[in-house]
Amino acid sequence: MESPFSDMDWLDTASNTLDLAIQKGLYTEFSHLKSDLDRIRFIHNHRTNLLSNTFERYLSSTSSSCLTKNATTAINFRKKGNDYFVEKDLSRAAWCYRASIALSTINSQDMALSYGNLSAVLFELSHYHESIRAIQLANDFYPNELKFKLVFRRAACYHKLNDPERSAYELKICRDLIKKTAGLDRKKIDSFCKEMDHLSRQIAILNKRKEEEEEEEQQQQQQQIKKSYKNLDDLIQNSQTPTETIATCLLKSTEEKTTDEFCPPSPPSPPRSTILIDESKLLLNGPNKYIPCASSTLRLAYSKDKGRHIIANQDIPSDVLILNERPYACLLLPKFAYTYCDHCLTAIVIPYVCPQCSHVLFCSEHCQQRALASYHQYECKHIHILKTLGIAFLAYRTLTITDHETLWTTITQTTIPNDNEEQNNNNHNNHNNNNNNIYKSDYSSIQKLITHTEQMSTDDLFHYSLTAYLLSEIIKSTNFLRCNQIKKRDTEQILLASILLKHIQQMICNAQTISITKTNQIDDIIFDNDDDHDEITKRFASAIFPTCALMNHSCVPNIRCVFDQGYLRVYTAKTIRQGEEILNCYGPQKSLMPSIEQRQNVLLEQYFFKCQCEGCSEVQKPQIETLANGEN
Ligand SMILES: [Zn+2]
Ligand SMILES: [Zn+2]
Ligand SMILES: [Zn+2]
Repeated sequence: MESPFSDMDWLDTASNTLDLAIQKGLYTEFSHLKSDLDRIRFIHNHRTNLLSNTFERYLSSTSSSCLTKNATTAINFRKKGNDYFVEKDLSRAAWCYRASIALSTINSQDMALSYGNLSAVLFELSHYHESIRAIQLANDFYPNELKFKLVFRRAACYHKLNDPERSAYELKICRDLIKKTAGLDRKKIDSFCKEMDHLSRQIAILNKRKEEEEEEEQQQQQQQIKKSYKNLDDLIQNSQTPTETIATCLLKSTEEKTTDEFCPPSPPSPPRSTILIDESKLLLNGPNKYIPCASSTLRLAYSKDKGRHIIANQDIPSDVLILNERPYACLLLPKFAYTYCDHCLTAIVIPYVCPQCSHVLFCSEHCQQRALASYHQYECKHIHILKTLGIAFLAYRTLTITDHETLWTTITQTTIPNDNEEQNNNNHNNHNNNNNNIYKSDYSSIQKLITHTEQMSTDDLFHYSLTAYLLSEIIKSTNFLRCNQIKKRDTEQILLASILLKHIQQMICNAQTISITKTNQIDDIIFDNDDDHDEITKRFASAIFPTCALMNHSCVPNIRCVFDQGYLRVYTAKTIRQGEEILNCYGPQKSLMPSIEQRQNVLLEQYFFKCQCEGCSEVQKPQIETLANGEN
């Protein structure tokens, strides 16, 4: 299915600007700049010269790819969804209804109709709790003359949820609504009444079965009580011969209780996903004192050639959870915008929208509120541009997701972001020596992630600087900056742009792509916006995990990563001995890319190191041996 997002031409613009800089003899000046702040100042000072009104053009772009709410598109998606529903292609139907909801004006009849249709899909997929929730979201703005249909579906949901009382209650409301609604098509109503009668009979059957079950249960209880008091009765009868035995008294009192007690319809139990568990308890031997999201079997180490890295404190068996980390910031690939939650990356069953744009959906009210109250307000207006910037968008979100106080405190502490390796090394040493230092997955840890600036080409740095400046223009157009005074705003913008430039470089060598593996039935809803239904594993997001980012690379990693319920879960893939380093794979895994040369090129290009891992040296050895043997 074609995603309604298309790319803008930022890459071209950046390349053209670079050419212009070369023509105007400014390239050499840029190549000699030593800090991110200097690079940003350079762009700022030459912006009129090099870019004329490029940034303004971008920010005011009303390109067709800019997706605001659009009733016509919303209706078209709903119609498409209806077609799929008729064809029983439920996952595609659900995707279309979610798209329609995202594109509908907030609190409109269109939105209500799409929620209503989605509830039908959810019912067919046996997600009855979710279907009831979708009906609730549809209700207020649903056409009055059609509301009886929603109520009927709710009655059917409660029946499926084994709640005959509530189901009967909803069915009664449904019949009342039909009576009150004028001008309904008689023929349609007649066939609808047949459906209602059918449900009515099913409810009666369910009621009868429940009664029988209860009766059976009561009988069992009575027998149990009789049995346990038999000996006692015998004793009492022998001595006093009372008119009523204790056992019969007890039985009578239970009977009275069950017949007299009024039982109102109980609300359905919540779906499983709302049950919370303490995530840190899942880790092998409990959480680590110094790295809270890691198992206590690990520790942080530092060496000059490896930088910061993680090693095993003790022997660790295979297939156990050693790290459980939430992303500091994450970013969905644009084509999955109507499939996963923009905030927590969970599959969306019932969508919650942004009231302004149609670029994002959330899985719950909680995620919706969290996103809208923080970073999304700085993205919403220009999200069509941000979505074309790839990893730079992740850098932007890393900055805007950080609460203002933490951000400005951290920036002030670092004052000017430094690329000074020596100072960075000192930081690592301090960290290693100071046991009171806890490595949290927070913004100060992000600030300390490596950048590899020294190894980056001038072309790349120029490109990143331009992008960082564009991001700072976007930030400036929101209410993110603290000052109102023009001159101070410029200073603040330049500072933020330099931080963004640093984050872009950090994301390039530290961000992790997240894939999802098709495993359970809910995936019917997830694996839809794609024609390749057979694909088992899919890349769908990128994210920054400050702790996981500390792991070094190996083409034959000793761990495997699984993204599950908002967490990156790291399991050991083999037995790891005490003192052994925990090694992740940055992308080119030996099993998937057998050519050592190819792997080393990929790693050198993005991460600036020649891989000497076990997998890479293993392959080289036999080659040398064969040569030697050949000479013999
Ligand atoms: Zn969510
Ligand atoms: Zn928005
Ligand atoms: Zn390797």
